[in-house]
Amino acid sequence: MRVFNFSAGPSALPLEVLERAKDELIDFAGCGMSIMEMSHRSEIYESVAHQAERRFRALFAVPANYRVLFLQGGATAQFAAVPLNITGPNRRAAYVNTGIWSTKAILEAGRYLDEVVTVASTESSGFNRVPEPAEWLEMGPVDYLHYTDNETIGGVEFFSIPDAGETPLVCDMSSNILSREMDVSRFGVIYAGAQKNMGPSGITVVIVREDLLGHARPDTPSFMDYSIQAKNGSMLNTPPTYPWYLLGLVLEWLEAQGGVKAMEVLSQRKSALLYDAIDRSALFTNPVAIGSRSRMNIPFTLARPELEALFLQEARASGLVNLEGHRSVGGFRASLYNAMPYEGVSALVSFMSDFERRHG
Ligand SMILES: *Cc1c(COP(=O)(O)O)cnc(C)c1O
Repeated sequence: MRVFNFSAGPSALPLEVLERAKDELIDFAGCGMSIMEMSHRSEIYESVAHQAERRFRALFAVPANYRVLFLQGGATAQFAAVPLNITGPNRRAAYVNTGIWSTKAILEAGRYLDEVVTVASTESSGFNRVPEPAEWLEMGPVDYLHYTDNETIGGVEFFSIPDAGETPLVCDMSSNILSREMDVSRFGVIYAGAQKNMGPSGITVVIVREDLLGHARPDTPSFMDYSIQAKNGSMLNTPPTYPWYLLGLVLEWLEAQGGVKAMEVLSQRKSALLYDAIDRSALFTNPVAIGSRSRMNIPFTLARPELEALFLQEARASGLVNLEGHRSVGGFRASLYNAMPYEGVSALVSFMSDFERRHG
């Protein structure tokens, strides 16, 4: 039996995608072999890879002067790839700190740059919101400005794009890419690991503006160099062929659902349903300031922590799984990515209100 899987990542994939992959697993398109077993240089694989790129560009409205790369190493590799590739005369970069993922990005950038300026941080309020425009410090001359559009652990999301002026804006969109329309032309670089909102782990999408290519530090590992990967169609070495194929299937599914706009509307409905239930309840609490509440990851706690284990056990028995909060923060977290149907959230909300009636 399939459950409603609220995992933060790797996360639920659409059932239609899994079934299609199963149907094609042993004999792909009459080739007599699995797509996993064929050369990434074969004509048939190249067409699968190109189609995924075409679909991604169309769904996310990526302008023609941007390259889309399909790389390995997750968003974590990009924490290093960004300072290695987006270099300028300053050897300084500005970062916004809104939580655990921003903090990791800052620490990694510090290994490569002379200075990392934290231009705004909400650490003193427990990372429960995005910074107000008035809180931003002067960043001075920097090579780029980096922020995390959705903090997957804290459940904090930006709803407007920071104004970086002429400075290249770099964004980690790992956990909310393809969940709402974005003006890609505002960015220098966008990166996202697939395993949250668009596929399995093992593949990372990097969108980079063409004029930023060709400036990598000379000691940048070739496979992390955006311009080398762009020249080689993301196939400098063997790419993660099966995750790339699965990502393509998810994009095809997304198209059939009505694309990113449809996901935006659905994500608003799903998250509003859960936030309303939490706000009405005397037992459950969400710590994030209204206005910064993530549509994707919703952390919540219980007024009676002694009931936590029971909550998880009963939820699991009702087919609602992976509701544990991140190991660093505890409590609960429901991740409502594109593949989570409205019915899943509705089942969770009914379960929570029933649980409160019995134990609240
Ligand atoms: C999961 C996540 C990461 C880390 O991704 P990996 O693929 O494990 O390297 C980075 N940033 C955000 C916002 C994430 O959600």
